[in-house]
Amino acid sequence: RLITPAPASRQEEALERALRPRLLQDYVGQAKAREQLEIFIDAARKRGEALDHVLLFGPPGLGKTTLSHIIAAELGVKLRQTSGPVLEKPKDLAAILTNLEANDVLFIDEIHRLSPVVEEILYPALEDYQIDIMIGEGPAARSIKLDLQPFTLVGATTRAGMLTNPLRDRFGIVARLEFYTPEELARIVTRSAGLLNAPIDAAGAQEIARRSRGTPRIANRLLRRVRDYAEVKGDGRIDAPLADKALAMLDVDPQGFDLMDRKLLEAVIHRFDGGPVGLDNVAAAIGEESGTIEDVIEPYLIQQGYLQRTPRGRVATLAAWRHLGLTPPAATGG
Ligand code: ADP
Repeated sequence: RLITPAPASRQEEALERALRPRLLQDYVGQAKAREQLEIFIDAARKRGEALDHVLLFGPPGLGKTTLSHIIAAELGVKLRQTSGPVLEKPKDLAAILTNLEANDVLFIDEIHRLSPVVEEILYPALEDYQIDIMIGEGPAARSIKLDLQPFTLVGATTRAGMLTNPLRDRFGIVARLEFYTPEELARIVTRSAGLLNAPIDAAGAQEIARRSRGTPRIANRLLRRVRDYAEVKGDGRIDAPLADKALAMLDVDPQGFDLMDRKLLEAVIHRFDGGPVGLDNVAAAIGEESGTIEDVIEPYLIQQGYLQRTPRGRVATLAAWRHLGLTPPAATGG
């Protein structure tokens, strides 16, 4: 699988860490988010205060974790990293919060998956840098207030719509990450190739970039596989023809769609006459969770104009029919 919501293995995670840009100036693309953050980080640093809480949202692999590390580095503070599903009990979060030092960054990935009881203690922490904790048990139990150091929460989620309103309202800075352009991805591929000592020319980088679904994680993943291919089948050098062959072998088509993308488009067209079809029916047809379809697979297909999300369900566009080599119904007069 080329499209996954998270690093596919420990090895990949380590590599991602190595390829991660450390400072805002090395963070490619996302001009809007970067510009906003530059100003607010600068202001917070000058005042010696904690940065406002930041919510980052967008599909997986677009650089939310990377950006949270950069925010901490630019502020010159420490980063604590955790995730919504890991924080099972209020005391898990309380332990982290009470250990933060002044102006530190706390990164919570998948923040939409916080349990309600954990989310509850986050509110006063975000608003007043205070938490209420329960001491003792039974009738003797009482709640006491603890002061926290000022800190910045950076929350990441694939969809802002999945957050509860009270949580969303507590973020002063909200940045939506967009799919990257092929030019931006080519810069990322070139930089990563340099760090991996993989010789690549401009056209080779562009070929990989064009077929990376607008996503840096996928670009880096494809680069590594193309590099393997180049070392085994060639002399190690990556140019456009070699990248094309390697990507075809990996079932990444010329549009950059992989098997799952094509499976989804095929299901909508062949099994549901092009739609509209409800998400759950698509999920059942291709044997994939509806959440994964919504967060991971379909955003790029929609952005590229192959799929539409309508009130009555998903619809395959003419481009999708053509991409699969089919004649769209309208063109046959039907
Ligand atoms: P997310 O948290 O949104 O799933 P990550 O921050 O883990 O995504 O990014 C995945 C990988 O993509 C990182 O390891 C990093 O190497 C690369 N990456 C992401 N955004 C950028 C960027 N703007 N510039 C360069 N590389 C990036």
